[in-house]
Amino acid sequence: MAPSARKRFCCWNAFVLLGTLLATSSFLHGQQTRLEDLRDKTILLFTPHPDDDVFGAGGTIALLNRNHNKVYIVVYTNDDKGSYDPDMNSQRLARIRRAEQEASEAMLGTPKDNIFWMGYDDGMLEYAPQPKLTEEATAIIRRIRPDVLLSVDPGEWYERWHKSDHRMAAFNTIDAVRAAEFWLYFPNQKLQQGLQPYKVPEIYFFYPAPQEANYFVNIDSVAELKFDAAAKQVSQFEPSVNKYRPDWTPEDLKKAKDEMRQQQPKKDGHYVEAFRYATGFNQF
Ligand SMILES: [Zn+2]
Repeated sequence: MAPSARKRFCCWNAFVLLGTLLATSSFLHGQQTRLEDLRDKTILLFTPHPDDDVFGAGGTIALLNRNHNKVYIVVYTNDDKGSYDPDMNSQRLARIRRAEQEASEAMLGTPKDNIFWMGYDDGMLEYAPQPKLTEEATAIIRRIRPDVLLSVDPGEWYERWHKSDHRMAAFNTIDAVRAAEFWLYFPNQKLQQGLQPYKVPEIYFFYPAPQEANYFVNIDSVAELKFDAAAKQVSQFEPSVNKYRPDWTPEDLKKAKDEMRQQQPKKDGHYVEAFRYATGFNQF
């Protein structure tokens, strides 16, 4: 793996792999609904780490915010492990990652108050108590009642290569989508908190397997904004991931953004973000 400005052990590598695979796959055309044309809707996105939302769907998030939708971001983990710096500690890294995520999402138009932190430790999501994890995500869905939900793809192919937090976030979110429909799952949410059951109408999964991607958003108009937003996650890239520094040298920043431009999936000469579109928890 070429070192360059490449991110550490998870999210950036996932993004790069996706870009490589999509570039060589045949593209399927998506459904009739145009996600990027939605206006005045409520959008709820679940992300395993504070950056997968930006790498996987940052351009789409910017378009949704631009169209006056209410975008909410739920971050499963605090991302407190991914540094090679021997002087770093988890508490400090979690603070850094949170600030970077808030700055990154702010560039995309998402206010800080719309970011919910579930607070699980990085890499440990599969070992979290699962009923609690699903119950928490279910409560968020029932409270926010999104017109559209975005999440990491739990698709079949995806399991074979992705890392633990991504698998768990993907499966847990779709489990919560199912649970949210039926009030007898976690009935205390209705009886004690007044949260009514809710059926999520539409789902777009980011980080789809190339052969399963069926929906593409043209992000040309916000691509540079996306790359700038991603660059706010400075601790995820070299050299900061090796020896933390809160800023970029101009040379390192240019290198990182050039790589982002190169790796961003493209279709017919346009920057795109790829999704798998689904309308329910029973997906065929
Ligand atoms: Zn990640």
